[in-house]
Amino acid sequence: MDILTDGLKKLDISYNDIQIDLVNRFYEMLIERNKVMNLTRITDKKEFYEKHILDSLLVCKINDLRNKKIIDIGTGAGFPGIPVKIFFPETDMVLLDSLNKRLVFIDDVINELHLESVITVHGRAEELGHDKRFRESFDIVLSRAVADLSVLSELCIPFVKINGFFISYKSSDTDEEILNAENAIHILSGSAAEVINIKIPNSDISRRFVKIKKEKPTQKTYPRKPGTPARYPL
Ligand code: SAM
Repeated sequence: MDILTDGLKKLDISYNDIQIDLVNRFYEMLIERNKVMNLTRITDKKEFYEKHILDSLLVCKINDLRNKKIIDIGTGAGFPGIPVKIFFPETDMVLLDSLNKRLVFIDDVINELHLESVITVHGRAEELGHDKRFRESFDIVLSRAVADLSVLSELCIPFVKINGFFISYKSSDTDEEILNAENAIHILSGSAAEVINIKIPNSDISRRFVKIKKEKPTQKTYPRKPGTPARYPL
């Protein structure tokens, strides 16, 4: 528990007992459901606090999250979206994934924890990026562990509002990946990538964020149809 509360303090995130309780209930639900479906390989509680909760929350050092409309693309078991929602409850959150059974789990978490202003959306980012309800309508688009940056940019940048941000969670050894994505980011109307390295509090685990500002509308041809961004990266 100290790992979590000390980490929150180091990140300047204010919290109360109810939020800590929500994290612990989320952990219990994850471990229980993980017995019958593949949700996470992290089952140790200390690791869960560090690599799922605190890691997800590092993004508050990259951009102000308060009152922002956020989408988490390829949320899986709810990372980073659910931890962000717990500690920044005034955010308006959409959790998107193409695998419905993971979203069924997240819906159970949302109901059980009584989280508000958070919905799950089932589908491929390539298709939902053209949906008027979602296209160019988020202040912040988050994504962790989904695809290579050039592919991910095509999946994510179409969802970002003009002057909003696409923020990708990457590892520190991604210099080449970021360089290779420059063309894709430019085609999709993103700014030059800002790279920010940050450590999970009280650990040696390093996280790299890539932050891209959306400067003008993305051409209507993007994203291309499902599977094409990964097969033929821009
Ligand atoms: N973001 C979570 C995390 O960090 O723990 C989950 C990462 S998991 C490795 C990748 C997730 O992205 C999977 O749940 C997968 O279904 C989803 N995904 C992959 N491609 C996608 C796409 N084109 N559209 C929507 N979801 C996608």
